[in-house]
Amino acid sequence: MPNIKFGPAGIGFIKEIEKTFERYSKNKINACEIPFTYSVYIKNKKDAVKIKKAAKKFGIRLSIHAPYWINLNSEDKEKIKASEKRILDSCKIGHWLGARKIVFHSGFYGKDSKEKTCQNIKNKLLELQKEIKKNKWNLELAPETMGKINVFGSVEEISRLVKETGCGFCIDFAHILARDKKVDFEKLKKLFPQKKWHCHFSGIEYNEKGEKHHKKTEEKYWKWLFKNLPKNKKIIIINESPSPVEDSVLGLKIYNNKSA
Ligand SMILES: [Zn+2]
Repeated sequence: MPNIKFGPAGIGFIKEIEKTFERYSKNKINACEIPFTYSVYIKNKKDAVKIKKAAKKFGIRLSIHAPYWINLNSEDKEKIKASEKRILDSCKIGHWLGARKIVFHSGFYGKDSKEKTCQNIKNKLLELQKEIKKNKWNLELAPETMGKINVFGSVEEISRLVKETGCGFCIDFAHILARDKKVDFEKLKKLFPQKKWHCHFSGIEYNEKGEKHHKKTEEKYWKWLFKNLPKNKKIIIINESPSPVEDSVLGLKIYNNKSA
């Protein structure tokens, strides 16, 4: 079995962070993604450092999910600027938190070709990386594989961004299933030969256009995932179902039974 860290999207209330992480750690949860999906809601350094310390104390690896409202391929320059700001705000707080990955949804296909979309997003990523370097933030941008067919982020497109910019990545297995109607693990291994994979997983409802919504991660999906994951990697699996803690604990239980 591969080496896997498990954890939910979500940290609960900031003032109860010690208690929450203690409970996570009792359940063997050792990763956690902070969802800035609706806003970068951690504003000050004091709160960020408090969370960082609690995470360290209980052995929990933190990552960030940047806000949903990002489109690095918008025709509207103001919207691109606002998108960049949301990513950089996430990075600034992420740095204080000691998070290493900033996961985000890159954008939508424009009127131009998919190729042009890829070029535009790549160029924006390179600019953002310069900004990260300038600020000496020790973290990586991680564009995510997306679940809707009209959204930029097929496995090929994300792999290409990684190759051309050296950025990180987030493999969302539920999204891939919704978009491609299957997950080709052999292809994934070739597209992402890196030793470490940052991943999302949950049950998912989908149709011909792709993702509809995330749902509970049933036992059979966990078993399917473990059967297919590459054995020789370090993998972080963030659960994004409506019950992410419960589902992570279920995943852990199945994983530990299998690797025992
Ligand atoms: Zn996402």
